[in-house]
Amino acid sequence: MKILVINSGSSSLKFQVIDSESEEVLAKGLCERIGIDGSFTYRTSRGVSIRESVKMENHTQAVHTLLDMLVDAGKGVVGSFREIDVIGHRLVHGGERFTGSVVITDEVIEAMTECNDLAPLHNPANLVGVEACQRLMPETLMVGVFDTAFNQTMEPKAFLYGLPYRYYEKYKIRRYGFHGISHKYVSQRAAEFLGQNPRQVKTIVCHLGNGASISAVKYGQVIDNSMGFTPLEGLVMGTRCGDVDPGALEFLAKKENLDFSQIMAILNQESGVLGISKNYSSDFRELKDAEIKYNEKAALAREIFAYKVAKYVGSYAAAMNGVDNIVFTAGVGENDSDIRQEICNYLEFLGIHIDEVRNRDQGEAFRITDGASRVNVLVVRTNEELEIAREAAAVAQEITQEISKKKS
Ligand code: ADP
Repeated sequence: MKILVINSGSSSLKFQVIDSESEEVLAKGLCERIGIDGSFTYRTSRGVSIRESVKMENHTQAVHTLLDMLVDAGKGVVGSFREIDVIGHRLVHGGERFTGSVVITDEVIEAMTECNDLAPLHNPANLVGVEACQRLMPETLMVGVFDTAFNQTMEPKAFLYGLPYRYYEKYKIRRYGFHGISHKYVSQRAAEFLGQNPRQVKTIVCHLGNGASISAVKYGQVIDNSMGFTPLEGLVMGTRCGDVDPGALEFLAKKENLDFSQIMAILNQESGVLGISKNYSSDFRELKDAEIKYNEKAALAREIFAYKVAKYVGSYAAAMNGVDNIVFTAGVGENDSDIRQEICNYLEFLGIHIDEVRNRDQGEAFRITDGASRVNVLVVRTNEELEIAREAAAVAQEITQEISKKKS
């Protein structure tokens, strides 16, 4: 099957065409600055590489641009739209309603629209991408893959806040957790790499990128995730604050005469390692370069980040009563061997022994612990697009089987 994977944001749209049998990426690209001016990047497995300015006033035009390219006689990867069997859409927030991937129907769109106020930045942008595809390819099966779905196995003891229960009943205020598509892919890939059955191991996944989260995956199911009602909770991130005492926010609001939306803007865009480093950078590479040049606040930002990761790992080892695998992924987790070492230094009590040479390796998946380590520590490159393609193919196959069952 050929799967078109779409990840639609407010002003950008990432896409890949993946052959679900070989799992080869036939083409990938990015439509950026939609509604502003428009830039289009595109590469194929056959060596085509394009970067050009293309005016894209809205998401429909962006989808038009990418579809035109995919069927182009010289640069495309399919003969016609009909060769695309399924479109898999990354959908950020499925609330409590969606615990797995679904065929996108009018009912699903309606239910997602109801979740819009849970993810006002992401869900409407995702839906615009869905609608644009439906308009241009009305006959093609669309599958929605949610970032929250894998986390839906959390129990109330993990997902409820210490707030009056009525607010959960009335408004569904609870912890949802995010990055579920990545956590699922990475936890399973780690088990596969080690020749383990994912249903028999306890894994902690550290997704450390600009947005960062940690999950505890016990026997294949998420029991906890560091993000909460929104992706603001948990770790200190690039620009997001992570866990903060709400009392400090009331104090700050009064002192600086700020309203809630101003406070939220500070927490989302001006905090994290950017804020701690006194606006030096939200980029971990730049912070590392600054740390080498004795920039104290840059060093402090990285130190706080690593400390917080280690604390979450420790608490998740307790939550699962043990841990077999700890996996680092995403931009920082995959590339920053110093941060990995620093985090693991806190975790020696778990019997972790990092092999310093292996820790400096690069690759799709590798182990960084030595033979004496009681816990496997790995680095796995995340691949959310492949996970979406797998989910979309699985849903499509289920439908085909159901149809053939009904016929026989
Ligand atoms: P997101 O998808 O949340 O935007 P990414 O997973 O792409 O984030 O991660 C971006 C972060 O990864 C940036 O802070 C960047 O500096 C960091 N990063 C990427 N490559 C390296 C590297 N070689 N060393 C250290 N940090 C890196």
